[in-house]
Amino acid sequence: MVIVMKPGTSQAKIRALVARLEKDHGVKVGITNGVDCSILGLVGDTTHIDMDKLSMNEDVERVMRVQEPYKKANRKFHPEDTVVDVNGVKVGGGTFAVIAGPCSVESEEQIVEVARDVMASGASMLRGGAFKPRTSPYSFQGMGTPGLDLLLEAKAATGLPIVTELMSPKYCELFENEVDLVQIGARNMQNFDLLKEAGKMSKPILLKRGLSNTYEEWIMSAEYIMAAGNENVILCERGVRTFETYTRNTLDLSAIPAIRRMSHLPIIVDPSHAAGMYWMVEPLAMAAAAVGADGIMVEVHNDPPHAKCDGQQSLTPESFQHLMDQIKPLVSLVGKTLA
Ligand code: PEP
Ligand code: MN
Repeated sequence: MVIVMKPGTSQAKIRALVARLEKDHGVKVGITNGVDCSILGLVGDTTHIDMDKLSMNEDVERVMRVQEPYKKANRKFHPEDTVVDVNGVKVGGGTFAVIAGPCSVESEEQIVEVARDVMASGASMLRGGAFKPRTSPYSFQGMGTPGLDLLLEAKAATGLPIVTELMSPKYCELFENEVDLVQIGARNMQNFDLLKEAGKMSKPILLKRGLSNTYEEWIMSAEYIMAAGNENVILCERGVRTFETYTRNTLDLSAIPAIRRMSHLPIIVDPSHAAGMYWMVEPLAMAAAAVGADGIMVEVHNDPPHAKCDGQQSLTPESFQHLMDQIKPLVSLVGKTLA
């Protein structure tokens, strides 16, 4: 962190500020006295220093961070890729994980049938929402806890680890016992209480990018989970809001190389929620693999026209099989192996 002092600030005031910074924050401060002003260079852990408070000091001209505000998620302090183990399925570090399943769990027949189909096509995990974050309170809100039981039945039938969304801290204990990969949805990316509770869980977390959040805000949310004790976080790019209305969201493929540089955490892509249209899912999934994603999460339904949620963007089991046939050679081409 660098602090530029206002011209004419006395050396006594500068020394007092330096002493306070060193005492309160345990940093070392180097002072450079220029012709007009002095510049303070802070070395050490500055994550706890409030830049805005410092800027309010009447002798301070400007405060600048030279380091990112995230530590645990930062690639600089952890150069190797993190590999997250989801009940035996490795995500990151050279594997390509495919999570597939319906938007929401609707019935035993539906979830077990889809689970069997996606497993036969090579999926490594089963997704399905039991608690659904819907824009309208009048839309299907998910089956709730009976939906989790059905996911467990599908897991028993196929052996696939299950991925489902946690919307409230009150279900942490239940998810801790029953879910293999705990999803935090786009709408809850900055629900800090939820992130802190997820950080106390022993299960890995799938953190989706918020509807309009920057890379840094997204990584800071991962940092919340990690700072609370859970370092097994997988990031998921799912499209962001832009001026374009043709697609449901705009898939930000730049996020993959950017996040890879900023963080060591694995990153996967959800082309279904990005596109919002079934016919765009396969090409976007291919693009995700090509740009270096560690996997994809795809919505698959056995009867999309009658799906209770997101049928328009769901693949049939047949079109999912087609996607897998197309993506497998691409995954090898980029030097990864299917998880
Ligand atoms: C989902 O994956 O079921 C979902 C609701 O996605 P998002 O949070 O990305 O909108
Ligand atoms: Mn959905």
